[in-house]
Amino acid sequence: MAKKKIIIGNWKMAPKEAREARRVFGAIKKTAGGLRGVQTVVCPPYIYISELIRQVSGHRCVMGAQDCFWSEEQAHTGEISASMLANMGVRYVIVGHSERRALGETNEEVAKKVAAVLKAGLTAVLCVGESERDEHGNYTAFIKTQIQESLSSMRKSSLENIIIAYEPIWAIGKSAQRAASVEDAIEVSILIKKVLSDMFHTEGAMNVPILYGGSVNPHNAEGFLGGGGIDGLLVGRASLDAPAFSEILIIASQA
Ligand code: PEP
Repeated sequence: MAKKKIIIGNWKMAPKEAREARRVFGAIKKTAGGLRGVQTVVCPPYIYISELIRQVSGHRCVMGAQDCFWSEEQAHTGEISASMLANMGVRYVIVGHSERRALGETNEEVAKKVAAVLKAGLTAVLCVGESERDEHGNYTAFIKTQIQESLSSMRKSSLENIIIAYEPIWAIGKSAQRAASVEDAIEVSILIKKVLSDMFHTEGAMNVPILYGGSVNPHNAEGFLGGGGIDGLLVGRASLDAPAFSEILIIASQA
């Protein structure tokens, strides 16, 4: 049986009003609920999770979080723990997004967050990716180090609860000039699988889903999903546009 495509929407710090969050999520859920071959995950800002999760029914469209804290201890003002998210019904947590790394998050902190997410029984969506593609190929060493350091304390049995999203920083967000090419994404997907195989020496390394993220839209989604090697997409801006995201979900169901 073909593996389900995993499509994750990262709403970042939007929308501004809960009413709009309910509207967008409701529309996405309507499409996602009818698609058998796609696992849809929506990651809204924390503040909307408890409300939106009441709209979740079944397993096709579930809730994720954009981050979590690495400790379970209480004395961390302003933070949210992985077990709080799990108790709320969240299933996936994005960890190490480049916009958090830009605020100073290190691979060491990302590793602690991955451990916290796994301990809470959730799936960690680890983001990796270079800020530029140098012609000497140094970006491959950079991505390798990100994976090695972020998964340094993980046991091989946890591989089934990990997803890796390749998100080249130069392709993300409003200032991006373009998405990566399908070839760029497949090349890094192969690299990631090799790094995981070398680290964990198990077949399971080859089954870790690899997603692509960076300026995905309904026009380029099929290219990424149709070529083999990419198991899903992490979608930023287009995931707040319910018709566009729904189109991406339908494309994923047909890929
Ligand atoms: C992201 O922030 O994870 C992302 C992929 O953003 P965008 O799709 O807007 O480039």
